[in-house]
Amino acid sequence: MASLLSHPAGPLSILFGSGLKLHRNLILICVLLSLLPDADVIAFSFGIPYESQWGHRGFSHSIVFALITGLICSFCFKENKKSVFILATLSTLSHPLFDMLTNGGLGVALWWPFDTGRYFFPWRPVEVSPIGIGNFIGMRGVQVLFSEFLILWLPLMSLSFLTKRLRQ
Ligand SMILES: [Zn+2]
Repeated sequence: MASLLSHPAGPLSILFGSGLKLHRNLILICVLLSLLPDADVIAFSFGIPYESQWGHRGFSHSIVFALITGLICSFCFKENKKSVFILATLSTLSHPLFDMLTNGGLGVALWWPFDTGRYFFPWRPVEVSPIGIGNFIGMRGVQVLFSEFLILWLPLMSLSFLTKRLRQ
């Protein structure tokens, strides 16, 4: 996984770049949705293997899962349902796309349930974040955060600022 500190870079750059006036609850939900797929680490507690479709980076890292979360969120808001659906889906989907840039672990089951194979992008420059806070503290965490800043935060926020500037 990319670290929990960097997954919000996806929704925050989309939301900022969109220039939409959004309710702060929706912003918070989008940030939480960018973290949601990694709730699947609970599968380890139930003895579900990493490589299972129900394990870490399995079904919760798929496009179908992102579409379902987008749909559920759109039902929870009374207005702008289409925008909520799109923002919530993209926020959730940004998570597996970031994971596909990491250089460790198994790939993500992006095409679940149609294909349970695990996939990465051909270019994987982001240092994989270790699972568990204890493994993250120290030089390993600094390396992960530095690579995430260079590969995720910097380009995405620059693009977001540029998009907003061009719109004005
Ligand atoms: Zn993940």
